[in-house]
Amino acid sequence: MSTTLIRDVRPLHAATTNVLITDGMITQIATDISAPDGAEIIDGKGSLLFQGLIDGHTHMDKALIGLPWHSTKPTSTITEVIANERQLRREEHIDAHQQSTRHALAAIASGTTHIRSFADIDTEWGLNGIRGLMQTKADLRDKVDIQTVAFPQSGMLIRPGTVELLDQALSEGADVIGGLDPSAIDRDPKGHLDTIFGLAEKHDVDIDIHLHEPGELGAFSFDLIIERTRVLGWKGRVTISHAFALGGVDHVRLGSLIEDLLDQQIAIMSHGPSGGRPAPPVEQLRRAGVRMLSGNDGIQDSWGPLNRPEMLKRAYLVCYRNNFRRDDQIEDVIDIITNASAEVLGVDDYGFAVGKAADLVLVEEENHAAAVVRSGEPWLVMKRGVITARDGVVA
Ligand SMILES: [Zn+2]
Repeated sequence: MSTTLIRDVRPLHAATTNVLITDGMITQIATDISAPDGAEIIDGKGSLLFQGLIDGHTHMDKALIGLPWHSTKPTSTITEVIANERQLRREEHIDAHQQSTRHALAAIASGTTHIRSFADIDTEWGLNGIRGLMQTKADLRDKVDIQTVAFPQSGMLIRPGTVELLDQALSEGADVIGGLDPSAIDRDPKGHLDTIFGLAEKHDVDIDIHLHEPGELGAFSFDLIIERTRVLGWKGRVTISHAFALGGVDHVRLGSLIEDLLDQQIAIMSHGPSGGRPAPPVEQLRRAGVRMLSGNDGIQDSWGPLNRPEMLKRAYLVCYRNNFRRDDQIEDVIDIITNASAEVLGVDDYGFAVGKAADLVLVEEENHAAAVVRSGEPWLVMKRGVITARDGVVA
């Protein structure tokens, strides 16, 4: 039996306390725990305690971390960006296993304990991305939990053979099926969504759809997704990522979409910056009780170099995009990158409570809101009671 006592840490909205961990689980939280014989003792030195941070939306297979600087090419459409990406992959021989490993290590060092990552699947790249990602998931399973999403980044119906590859990826163990702009990319919203939901039903997996479509076009896609979620009985198993349309419709349309999202327990992923487009109104969605998560999206990939692997920096960007200034607003975003994301990803053993996994992050800062704004770097990261990173270096 392994026992660890962390002394003198400050959880969000709670007084300084001690935490006892037994075999990877939190077994006691109290101010007066005496160390059992043989226990490892960690002096928290009054640090802030965060629950393990969750990156609920990223693309680990195609991160360019650790490679020479990639200058982003000018493009005018999303189709051009995607074509550039395929070209880069061909010319640079990107190794999805190596890149997703580099990405995972950077994430772990900055306090991330759970990730949902997409991996591109298309008729050129085949299953290289998802297989590389699944290998990384297996290699690092003691340090970070990775949920893998089979994702038709280049379109699906417009590239015959892609559906079969997605089906194969799910047979090989991909956890979630991804979709992409049913009208704007495939130009066949019914065909695209019927196929995605069909694959979800066949393999009994959750769904996560990238929806960049703006305004009423995006809202129409929402309608189709909601309708299928209801008919298939996939309530609570669907995420819509980016969901820019929620920021581009009038308040009456938004109100009725929110009612439908609540009714079908559909989650919304917002990563803050929206490339100059309207973005989901995070405060309104949260106040209504819409399930939410956030994520870093692609880190230093051919789409652009700006995204970083640190989830506290992501929380800052979500705050910035939504004009959140008050502590309670910043703390609500901390809830999005921890508890709310865990709920969407279906992580049962998550939480700072007795009986939950000891996925914990210690940061030396004044308070939790300050740690977000000053992008606090954790000095200690723990996964199921085992130290996975110290002072930014993975153990
Ligand atoms: Zn994405």
